Amino acid sequence: MAQHFLLSAASRTLSLKAIYKGGEDAAYQTFCKMRWPETHGEAICPQCGCIETYKITTRRKFKCKACGHQFSVTSGTIFASRKMDFVDLLAAICIIVNAAKGVSMVQLSRDLDCQYKTAFVLAHKLREAMAQEVQTGEVLTGHVEIDGAYFGGHIRPKNQKKDRVDRRLKENQTGKRRVVIALRERVGRTLPFVAMSEVEGVALANENVCRMATMSADEASHWDLLHAAWEVDRVNHSELYSDHGKHTNMAESFFSRLRRMVSGQHHHVSPQYLHQYANHAAWLEDNRRFDNGELAHRLVANSMGAPVSRAWKGYWQRAA
Ligand SMILES: [Zn+2]
Repeated sequence: MAQHFLLSAASRTLSLKAIYKGGEDAAYQTFCKMRWPETHGEAICPQCGCIETYKITTRRKFKCKACGHQFSVTSGTIFASRKMDFVDLLAAICIIVNAAKGVSMVQLSRDLDCQYKTAFVLAHKLREAMAQEVQTGEVLTGHVEIDGAYFGGHIRPKNQKKDRVDRRLKENQTGKRRVVIALRERVGRTLPFVAMSEVEGVALANENVCRMATMSADEASHWDLLHAAWEVDRVNHSELYSDHGKHTNMAESFFSRLRRMVSGQHHHVSPQYLHQYANHAAWLEDNRRFDNGELAHRLVANSMGAPVSRAWKGYWQRAA
């Protein structure tokens, strides 16, 4: 029997051992090469594009010869004003890409010996970098599956039966329940969204799925609206999961990963960040066939291309 990809040596091209053995300088060089691949790591002024710079090596900064602008390798990226060492940053990226179902922030803070808050913000910044690869704005083509799955808003039932409420009734709900709607190409990308109810998926399909595509959906009646615009395969999940190739199993795989991530690692996710976890799971799903070195490379490269995070820069300072 063929060996599973994730068990093969080819899937392991990056390790914590190698990162720490390389040390801070090597980690710094890695970031420079990812930021400025066109010059193999030589600094380019973000203000004027000049490639002539003075190196202020003691502070790992650059000064542009043309305009005098001072900058560092992380200026203008999501890692701007980072305090963590580059080697720890790279280690954090390694740990996160190695975790097929995500990793809890308590665990990450223990592994890196940093504050919980630092790990929390770092991981969310990396999810923003992943989101750039997931939410590209390009429409999905070919065969596209659509499905929804509900997350959050759990109400713990009271101990005694006489005290329990009917949790299906709106007045007994927390208002924190959300649905993640996944649009997934049979070959290609996964595109998740967070909405209040699954019926909103029809509008999302209108915006994000090519009119030439074929779609797959389950028996839920609101998907009937899809037939107006697409050829749609339907599968009745109360009877079977796959009917001669008619299925939504690719979307279900994505939900399976996201569910395990939420219930196994994060335990609780607030509705305002659910889209970030969904993007994280979609990124892992779409890149699952890459070795971990390639995953880390993509994540760092995305991070260096991602602008300063408005949501996460100074998050705890604002919260305080
Ligand atoms: Zn300049």
